[in-house]
Amino acid sequence: MTVGRYAPSPSGRMHLGNLLCCLLAWLSARAKGGRVVLRIEDLDAARCPRPFADALERDLAWLGLAADEGGSAGGPAGPYYQSERSAVYRQYYEVLAQKGLVYPCFCSRGQLHAATAPHRADGQVVYPGTCRGLTAAQAAAKAAARAPAWRVRVPDETVAFTDGHLGFYAERLAKDCGDFVVRRADGVFAYQLAVVVDDALMGVTEVVRGADLLSSTPRQLWLYKTLGLPAPRFYHLPLLLAADGRRLSKRDGDQSLENLRGRYTAREIVGRLAFVCGLQPEPAPCAPADLVAGFSWEKVPMTDITLPEGLF
Ligand code: GLU
Repeated sequence: MTVGRYAPSPSGRMHLGNLLCCLLAWLSARAKGGRVVLRIEDLDAARCPRPFADALERDLAWLGLAADEGGSAGGPAGPYYQSERSAVYRQYYEVLAQKGLVYPCFCSRGQLHAATAPHRADGQVVYPGTCRGLTAAQAAAKAAARAPAWRVRVPDETVAFTDGHLGFYAERLAKDCGDFVVRRADGVFAYQLAVVVDDALMGVTEVVRGADLLSSTPRQLWLYKTLGLPAPRFYHLPLLLAADGRRLSKRDGDQSLENLRGRYTAREIVGRLAFVCGLQPEPAPCAPADLVAGFSWEKVPMTDITLPEGLF
């Protein structure tokens, strides 16, 4: 059975990009006769207060995209709010720690960005390994002044996979990714660890998400392997850009569901989105269920989609 998922971080109302991701995740699972789990990625609990998650569930239901499991309805693999799952993450973090793969890092954000370390395509720094070789005594001395983040030591290995939409992608972990944070200095477990543990324990078999996360996939695949968890299949979808080329963001009230719900019906929104991602030839109103039979990843563009002027 195919199990897809929505994994939103509700730090505001959904925008059209979030919505396109949910639509494609739902269609990709339904087209295979599968179902969809909703997991709320509120690791940053202060930025993602519960009312936003509740509004997101109402928006999904209004659009005809309600999940089959998870969110406030719960289910067998709950809780489905990451803010309530730190005990689960701790177990897997301990597995990494027991393998000797985790070490404290005392570098500040400023130090990291000032370093001459190479930057990834997404603008993040490839960690230069500054704290990798600290002795226990050196780490203890530094810990007196600053709480460390915890990084996982990646091997000099290439991780390659075939994305269900974008095709072959590979990274050499040590060079392209670097040791990455699995637990933040404030004690919160990091997205990279949480997402792997959650997708595995929630029985997710396919992950549909934005192409901005393509480059997170090799390190996540390495975590699956290292933790002995089954990895899902991945499909990365193109990003949706505003008519002027800007990336949509939750700060843009203009494209938020709150605003759109006042101007369009659910069928109008779904129909227009289906049009921009190649699933129907005209922006005619329709329900998600109407798109299942004709759904194919081959119809979806592989590069960023610019919303036509005046469509929304
Ligand atoms: N929570 C992430 C976001 O909203 C998505 C993570 C994922 O799909 O792996 O951007």
